[in-house]
Amino acid sequence: MFIGYAQNIITPSLARPVYLAGFAQNRRATAIHDDLYVRALVLCTPERTLVLCAMDLIGLFRPDVQEIIQRVRGHFTALNKPEILIASLHPHDGPDTMGLWGPNDRTSGVDPLYLAELKDKTVATILTALAAAIKESPSMKSVCLRVPGLAKNARNPEILDDELTALQFLDIDGRLLVSLFDFACHPEVMWEHNTQISADYVGYLRQEVEETTGAPCIFFSGALGGMMTPDVKQHTFVEAEVIGQALARAGLEALGNAKGFPVAEMSVQKKEVKVKLTNILYKFAFRRKLLPDVRGPQGKITSEVNLIKIGPAWFATIPGELLPKLGLALKARMRAAGAQAAGVICLANDELGYILPAEDFRFPLNPFKPGKHYEETNSISKEIGPAVVEAVRSLL
Ligand SMILES: [Zn+2]
Repeated sequence: MFIGYAQNIITPSLARPVYLAGFAQNRRATAIHDDLYVRALVLCTPERTLVLCAMDLIGLFRPDVQEIIQRVRGHFTALNKPEILIASLHPHDGPDTMGLWGPNDRTSGVDPLYLAELKDKTVATILTALAAAIKESPSMKSVCLRVPGLAKNARNPEILDDELTALQFLDIDGRLLVSLFDFACHPEVMWEHNTQISADYVGYLRQEVEETTGAPCIFFSGALGGMMTPDVKQHTFVEAEVIGQALARAGLEALGNAKGFPVAEMSVQKKEVKVKLTNILYKFAFRRKLLPDVRGPQGKITSEVNLIKIGPAWFATIPGELLPKLGLALKARMRAAGAQAAGVICLANDELGYILPAEDFRFPLNPFKPGKHYEETNSISKEIGPAVVEAVRSLL
């Protein structure tokens, strides 16, 4: 296998208003604490090329992702077009790239100029990573380990996915080329009153891995929906650093003790998912042009899941924020089907909000006072959970 890697800074300029995404509307950025990134890892075998791209953003809708993917694929012939997955990491201290967090409930928070620049930069980053895919990586390491005490489930405390999945790709001499970390927790240590742009705990995690190993680190968010959140007492950068460093050190220690093995096979399988949108709040948001109306015929939204196998490490990609109950179930299914290490990459090629188990889904009578059922108010429908799980199951 050959490996390529590239990254670029995507921190928005504060010369124009930047509306921070993830909590209430009209939270304007006042400073840049640390930079946001787009990072692209390319894995290349004689049969196929896979791009795994991670963005420090709240989320991107499928039409925006598709535009980036088509622009990149336009550079290749029909025979050698790469498979591309673009996942948002969902930090709550970055710019609004969806529309919900603008100055008021009738004005989108998306800056079209920033979105256009972001697409250009992402295309350029992926193309650079593809051009750089000349380093041979005959072996890799993979680990899954529980890292307790850093994340909690605020909706269902008894259901906790505190498993870190981490990979490393090594060159012919056994030197590290790239690390990949995957963990399920909203990057929202700084919480709702912070006005500084930051990649939150993810930034500290990557920094610790890179300073320790001297090689780049790409991170993905696992099944962080409803509601995997940092287990912190205070919403400070010190706490974000504690979480990031603890995850980095736990992963690196486990990888240090793991044996490398040859990378034989890599595969990517895709399955479309079509679900009718039923959430009235989304319909209001479409009407007010806060969100782009992504519905097709019969009010159905088309999205996708993917099953990626990198040797014995398997990942399911999910087009939104999967609840940990479903994430744990998918990882168990992947292991039962032969995976040695299993992970979930959420907000991949889409962000359709929370994806709940159907049996737990209750749309609140008053969606503005949802109580224990907040996640349902940010979900396209009760049907998306079963549809996504069934699509991954069919690929397995
Ligand atoms: Zn979320």
